[in-house]
This record gives sequence, structure tokens and C-alpha cells, in this order.
Amino acid sequence: MSGTNTDTMLKKDHANDSFKDTISIVNKEGGRKWIYPKKPSGRFYNARTVLSIFLLAFLFGAPWIKIEGHPFLLLNILERKFILFGTVFTPQDFYLFGLLMITVFVVLFLVTAVYGRIFCGWLCPQTIFLEMVFRKIEYFIEGDYIQQKSLNASPWNGKKIFKKFSKYLIFFVISFLIANTFLAYIIGTDELLKIVSEPVNQHLSGFISIVVFTLFFYWIFAWFREQACILVCPYGRLQSVLLDKNSVVIAYDNVRGEPRGKVKDKEKDNLGDCIDCKLCVNVCPTGIDIRNGTQLECVNCTACIDACDSIMDKIDRPRGLIRFDSIENIETRSGFKWTARLTGYTAVLVVLISVTGFLFASRKDIDVNVLRTPGMLYQNQQDNKVSNMYNIKISNKTYDEKRIDFKLKNAEGEIKLIGNDIILKPLEIHEGSLLILMPKDKIKMTNTPLNIEVYSDGKEIDELKTNFLGPQNQ
Ligand code: SF4
Ligand code: SF4
Repeated sequence: MSGTNTDTMLKKDHANDSFKDTISIVNKEGGRKWIYPKKPSGRFYNARTVLSIFLLAFLFGAPWIKIEGHPFLLLNILERKFILFGTVFTPQDFYLFGLLMITVFVVLFLVTAVYGRIFCGWLCPQTIFLEMVFRKIEYFIEGDYIQQKSLNASPWNGKKIFKKFSKYLIFFVISFLIANTFLAYIIGTDELLKIVSEPVNQHLSGFISIVVFTLFFYWIFAWFREQACILVCPYGRLQSVLLDKNSVVIAYDNVRGEPRGKVKDKEKDNLGDCIDCKLCVNVCPTGIDIRNGTQLECVNCTACIDACDSIMDKIDRPRGLIRFDSIENIETRSGFKWTARLTGYTAVLVVLISVTGFLFASRKDIDVNVLRTPGMLYQNQQDNKVSNMYNIKISNKTYDEKRIDFKLKNAEGEIKLIGNDIILKPLEIHEGSLLILMPKDKIKMTNTPLNIEVYSDGKEIDELKTNFLGPQNQ
């Protein structure tokens, strides 16, 4: 099946639909058709190059940034510890992550509904690495698409061996760097440096992870390539439900371009602006012909816009035969329309951002939970006192040591910790127990509501509500 999800939106009375029967990366025999895209050039390609330099610098640099000796970004899924922009998030904050993820998805849906698959071409790490790193190296070593094709078709000789070996060696080294960076986001740079610098047998699992990730990234970028976007990526597969006629996509203006034909025949045959040079097809990294309409394979890389603009310049026609535009605007020249769907996405987004923002702003550095031990009733103690046992869980999300104390607020009684004083190390999660004792004659009901004040280093940081079970008929 070709990517035909939204292409019916275009009028294609000019084209036959045989492209729907094939997929650009599969040959007639059903095997892999290797895509040789022509080297892109032009204003959009230059802009993407500049943006990718910033994004790559951030991607490789961020794990090494420290704030007062602590990571700026860390996504340690193994120990369930996350640091975002210097702020620590522990498992108690996972609901915030859940909300954040939903917010990001809604942002993505909204942006896609308005601007199409712009994320893929401009921000996605897969596209950036493939088009802006690996493909550039390939062009540098093997030349443009024609030279690459002839090199691959030529018999093995010294020149071919040298080019292939140097290309794949560089690919492997970059994959190794990506693997290390990927791991640095998970375990932090200090741990990574230990794996790299200390004997292998001391960090066997870390060493194996680096090897596995390196081979994985090498396989992705040296061989698998655009198949990740076309066959694997779930976001690509969602295009058919996210886009509509009003979404701005990379679109061929068939109204202006058709019927296509040679420059010399244009006036005679009253042809459109497309001269059928196929440059837009040759530069496409997913091997499609954008003139067939919006297709699932299009990653919005804009290479076809640059290519077609260069042709329009040459034949003295206005640029933009292929451009960022909506199908609706191409067909009716009606301009951008704000649809009910966009209103819905925006409303959900505003609510999500408000709730998530509020929860992030009210997030505490020290989380304390006190819960009466399930299944236990009260215990009679000496001096005519009654006690209840409570489980406590305290999470220190700061880089400082914290002493935690409790005080009863609204009842006569005392709190006794079971074990030593609670002094939490940086980022430590403490689980323990405490007893609350109350004189029998002060207990007025079987279930007394209690307020407990929580102090960190002598400063009140929280007030918790719980209850106290006492003897009946008091
Ligand atoms: S159709 Fe154009 S924008 Fe889409 S992937 Fe191909 S070259 Fe890139
Ligand atoms: S590059 Fe432009 S003129 Fe050439 S085939 Fe593509 S759309 Fe037509």
C-alpha cells in the first residue's frame, strides 16, 4: 500500500493512480528499493542545517551541563530518577510526567493539524541525524546520487573499498558517540565516564549497553534509514487522522502546475508551470512524488520545495509551485481557516497547560506521607495511654541533607519515631514507622481526626491529616 491516506484531498485528474499500488521503498520483486536522494540545496535546506547544528549541540552537550555539580538533564529510568532543567523528579512525581506527556501529545496534535508533519522534517532526531549528519558524510565521501549509484554498481576495487570502508568507519564512530550520549541521558556522565575509563569487567552491563546501542544506531542510520519513518514511526501512521484539507502541508499546486510539459511547449499547448523535470522526486529522501498529493511517506523535509524553486527561477516562473500550503487554499485560494477541530484541541491544551503548570508550581521538594498501618487497631500502653501505629514515607528531592520532625497539632498526645531520628540524605526516599500516643481520658471518640505538622530542619513544610482509633464508648 502506498501512503494514500490523504492524497484523495487533491484533484488528480491529471495523474493516473498507479502510484497507489506501490510503495516507494519496495521494488517490483518485493525487495528493498534503496533510495538515492539527490543532494538538496536551497534556502529551506540551509535553514534546516542551521537549526540542526543548534539541536545537535544541545543533544550532545546537555548531559554534560551541571548546575552546582548536579545534572541539568537526566532520564534515569532504571532508578526512576528524572532531572529536568536541574529539578529532581522522583516516582512520587510520576503523575506530573503523565500529564506532561499528555500535554506534549496534544501540542503535537494541534501543531500537526495546523502545520502538518513539520516536526518530522525539522525537529525529529531520526531525520536530523540521517539527513544532516550521515547523509552529508555520504555525499562528501561518495558524491551525489548519480556517483553513489555508479559506485554501488561498480566492481570492487581499491577506490571503492577505501570509500566504503571510510564511510562505514565514520558511521560507526558517530553511532558510538550517539550511543554514549543516549546512555549519558540515562545514567549520567559521571557513570558513563567510569564505564569508559575503568576496566570492562567492573562495568560489564554498561559496556554491553554501549555496544548494543552503537550497533543499533549504526544499523538504523547505515541501513534501515527512511524505513523507520515509513514503516515503524507511529506518528507517521497517525497522519491520516491528524491532517485535513485545512492543514498546512508540503503541497504541489496542481492548479498552477498542470497540465505539466516541456518549457518549449508551454505557450503552444497552454501548459501549467510544472516542466516534469522530476527534480522534486530525485531529491526526496523517501522516494515519493509529491505531485501525487500528500502522502504518508512525506516527512516535510522541504527538499522538494528547494528543488522546484530552483527550477522556477531557471524558467522565470514565480517560486512556490511546491510550497507550504493547505489543499483547501490550493483548490479555492480561500486562505487559512480556523476549524472546530482546532478550537477543540486548543481548549484541551489550555486546560492541560493550566493544570500541569499549577501542579508543577505547587510541587514540594520534600514529600511526606503518613498512613495509619492498615489492619492494625489501637494498642493499650503504660500510663493509661493508647497508641496507633503509622507508616511513613518521605522523599527528599533536594541535593541537601534534611532532618524531618513531626508534631501533633490539634490533640493532646505525642509522636514517637520507631528507630532513629529521620535524617535524609540528598535524594533519599525513607520508609519507616511512628507511634502516636494519646492519654485515654483525652480520647472523646473512636475515630479522632488528627493534624500532624511536618518540620524540615526546624521549619514547618507541611500539615498532614490522619485519624486515630481509640477504645469504643469513650
Ligand atoms: S515529498 Fe518533499 S517534503 Fe516530503 S519527504 Fe519528499 S522531498 Fe521531503
Ligand atoms: S521540480 Fe517542480 S517543475 Fe520539476 S517536476 Fe517537480 S514540480 Fe515539476
